[in-house]
Amino acid sequence: MRPMKVLLQPIGEGDWQLLARLAIRLPHLLPFVECQVSPKTVSLPPGAVTPRRQWLANVLLAHLSVPQGFDRIVGITNVDLVVPPFNFVFGVAEISGQRAVVSTARLVDRKDEVTELRALKEILHELGHTLGLSHCPNPTCVAAFSNTLADTDRKGPKFCLKCYQQLLVSWQQQCSDETK
Ligand SMILES: [Zn+2]
Ligand SMILES: [Zn+2]
Repeated sequence: MRPMKVLLQPIGEGDWQLLARLAIRLPHLLPFVECQVSPKTVSLPPGAVTPRRQWLANVLLAHLSVPQGFDRIVGITNVDLVVPPFNFVFGVAEISGQRAVVSTARLVDRKDEVTELRALKEILHELGHTLGLSHCPNPTCVAAFSNTLADTDRKGPKFCLKCYQQLLVSWQQQCSDETK
């Protein structure tokens, strides 16, 4: 099984020093992942903003393309994201796909380490979806659905054993499909 190469892609203006720290932490929680941060920022797609100053998450998702040599791209933005009819989303992902987007807009705390841990959880959660994972009924598992920031803070940054095994099987399957 080869490593799953993940690119963290900043979208729009922001202080993206956080991303370098996240890229180091992600493989500790998903050991088959290798993570890099894109040195280039991509711009927010024009026309994807609603009258409530939220950005349409699925338009941002569609705007991303996975560069050669990578298996997944996770766009990170500090604008607020929405998928109507929801009021907001922390992130979106293609189920069993390659692309995800996470917003830090609602994750920011005055303590950087709190913001960072929340972002880490949201990225792991969305990466889980790209490997076909559904929401987990275990509220402490990172694959549990977050409706509020309190939900995000309650869950840990780890996948429960059942979810982790499912992710591993899914990635092994994708690797073995490539060699057929
Ligand atoms: Zn989810
Ligand atoms: Zn789980």
